[in-house]
Amino acid sequence: MTRPIQARIDLSALRHNYTVARRHAGEARLWAVVKADAYGHGLLRVAGALADCADGFALIELEGAIALRDAGVRQPILMLEGFYSPDELPLFAEYRLTPVLHTLDQVEAFIGAALPVRLPVYLKLNTGMNRLGLSEDEFRVALAVLEASPQVSSITLMTHFADADCAPDGRGIVSQLVHLDQLCARISGARQYPLCLSNSAALTRYPELRQHPEIWARPGIMLYGASPYPELQTAVALDLRPVMTLHSRLIAVRSLAPGDRVGYSGCFTAEQPMQIGIVACGYADGYPRHAPTGTPVLVAGQRTRTVGRVSMDKICVDLTGISAAACGSPVVLWGEGLSADEVATAAGTISYELFCALSGRVAVEVIREG
Ligand SMILES: *Cc1c(COP(=O)(O)O)cnc(C)c1O
Repeated sequence: MTRPIQARIDLSALRHNYTVARRHAGEARLWAVVKADAYGHGLLRVAGALADCADGFALIELEGAIALRDAGVRQPILMLEGFYSPDELPLFAEYRLTPVLHTLDQVEAFIGAALPVRLPVYLKLNTGMNRLGLSEDEFRVALAVLEASPQVSSITLMTHFADADCAPDGRGIVSQLVHLDQLCARISGARQYPLCLSNSAALTRYPELRQHPEIWARPGIMLYGASPYPELQTAVALDLRPVMTLHSRLIAVRSLAPGDRVGYSGCFTAEQPMQIGIVACGYADGYPRHAPTGTPVLVAGQRTRTVGRVSMDKICVDLTGISAAACGSPVVLWGEGLSADEVATAAGTISYELFCALSGRVAVEVIREG
């Protein structure tokens, strides 16, 4: 008998979500973002499910990119942080990987590498995120040397939005777009290059970007069925379906008397007689330890709350009003019937972190047909 916790990965939901991204993208092509093991959903299974529809795959990890090629992926593959050392460049050539170049060192290493093939490159511009990306002066230099290099088959300009998911009165994307326009206006020839701008939030919220004209967008989280801005719009409202359902079972049921405390530090105390269930799921499975009492959970199909500390292998749930609950009752931690966004919000984090934290000890069941 195996431990009852399981992650169900619904690949038909993934494919549906891709079509939603497609609808928003207009003429733009889509990099399906599959970094971090496809946000915890399994790189090869996600790429396999999108093999016949994704225009390309974008990720960070070189091993993952090679695994995609070895699995037969023929679409372009975009390496979102480029290479970390020039030693990797022969592999970029061998596996036909498109590097994002975000420093002048990368640009110089690339044109100095004497690769056996020409490769497309993305030039990442800093327009206000202030993490990765070239400044205006660096951009001018980079463009000049890349244009002169026989190693480069095409150049695409890329930037990343810091606030595409913010509230309507927040900064949004306008200041970064203005910055981008200024950069391109001040650097001779820059306007002719195609652009790659949008993450899921920008893709779904700013249709005007399609006029910019963006030729590639980079949706990630929406493919996995979570909302890029859950305080503004739910995944359901965006017509997105959950791909990952983390579910388990009650492995014990217990009655508490008033004053009984639950779990480590006894940080929940029963005020009246009540029943609680113990779920085979803990932080070692990827459930967030900082999820407080009150985090939503489904038991036997009914919504209730967690009580007390999350432990390594167990959480406790309130069974008040769930008369059907018994040892063995099914529990949904997030996914079908309970959005990861709600759980993440209750735990003070975002769905991305929940998905990426799914632990290797959780068995995975894959659903292919919806
Ligand atoms: C992760 C990532 C994305 C995808 O972002 P989502 O919010 O998941 O859509 C897009 N672009 C870059 C550069 C990224 O690192």
